[in-house]
Amino acid sequence: MHCYYCDNEAKAICRFCGAAVCSDHTKAGRFVSGWSSHSELSGTRADYVIVNNAIWCGRCSVQPVFAMR
Ligand SMILES: [Zn+2]
Ligand SMILES: [Zn+2]
Repeated sequence: MHCYYCDNEAKAICRFCGAAVCSDHTKAGRFVSGWSSHSELSGTRADYVIVNNAIWCGRCSVQPVFAMR
C-alpha cells in the first residue's frame, strides 16, 4: 500500500478519513470517539474516549459536531 499523497510506502492510516499515509505525511490529531465506551482493562464505563496524538493525515478536514441535548 502506498501513501495517498505521494508514492512512499504507507506506514499508517488516517484515523479520520481512512487515507493511507507515509511517515512524512503523518501528523498527530486529537480523536474523540463516542463509540469505544467500554474499557476492558479498568472495568469502568465512559461516555467517550479522547485519543491524543492519533494518526492524522493532516489534509482532511476534521469538523467537530456538537450534539443537541
Ligand atoms: Zn506521503
Ligand atoms: Zn485524513
